[in-house]
Amino acid sequence: MRKKIVAGNWKMNMDLAEGLKFAGSLEKYFKEKPAEKAQVILCPPFIHLAGISEIIKHGKIALGAQNCASDASGAYTGEVSAWMIKSTGAQYVILGHSERRTYYHEDDKLINKKTLLAINSGLKVIFCIGEVKSEREAGQHFLIVRRQLEEGLFSLTEEQIDMIVIAYEPVWAIGTGLTATPDQAQEMHKFIREQVKEKYGNDCAKKLPILYGGSCKPSNAAEIFSKPDVDGGLIGGAALKKEDFTAIAEAF
Ligand code: PEP
Repeated sequence: MRKKIVAGNWKMNMDLAEGLKFAGSLEKYFKEKPAEKAQVILCPPFIHLAGISEIIKHGKIALGAQNCASDASGAYTGEVSAWMIKSTGAQYVILGHSERRTYYHEDDKLINKKTLLAINSGLKVIFCIGEVKSEREAGQHFLIVRRQLEEGLFSLTEEQIDMIVIAYEPVWAIGTGLTATPDQAQEMHKFIREQVKEKYGNDCAKKLPILYGGSCKPSNAAEIFSKPDVDGGLIGGAALKKEDFTAIAEAF
């Protein structure tokens, strides 16, 4: 059985006090009512990591960052390294998110470098891929995703792939209210698993969690998660509301 995961990407929301309070209320919720089937992961801004790490002591919630530097250490003003993230108690980092690709011009090569650094620092990587609207309309979505896998991920060894969770996030569905249909999600997740199988073999492909992201909410999560190759979700907007996020975590 593959691991089911619901990860909340808080993006650049909530100041420190608000973030700690919100994490505390989720910790209380999941301590009393653990998400039976899913690993819940919170991915707050960097400044929250150490504080939240102290709050989520019951082990029902895991912690991740939203990015890391592309170098291990040194004179890189304003950057936060994978090792620093690991030292807060976080276990995961999101890399390759479409907002990083678009606003900060991160390409597959850079994302690959960050991915290797993160893994070597002991972090699991939530590796995001997905096509933009015009690419889907032009029927290019499989090609784009294939390229992102090949250039961003496939230099990893089979052992390193164990540290990866893939998040398929069609960019046209992120924060737009548009969601891929469950069949569209399944079609792409199956494709991704086939690519991994071709490269790393069946055992590796079968173990790999592949999450869906893009306007996932309580009203659509159960149907999307019911698809055989969908192993959970990377949640943006709905991760900022306790009722929505907890409902999604229970949607399996
Ligand atoms: C995301 O940014 O990873 C995401 C899935 O956002 P939203 O759920 O708001 O579409």
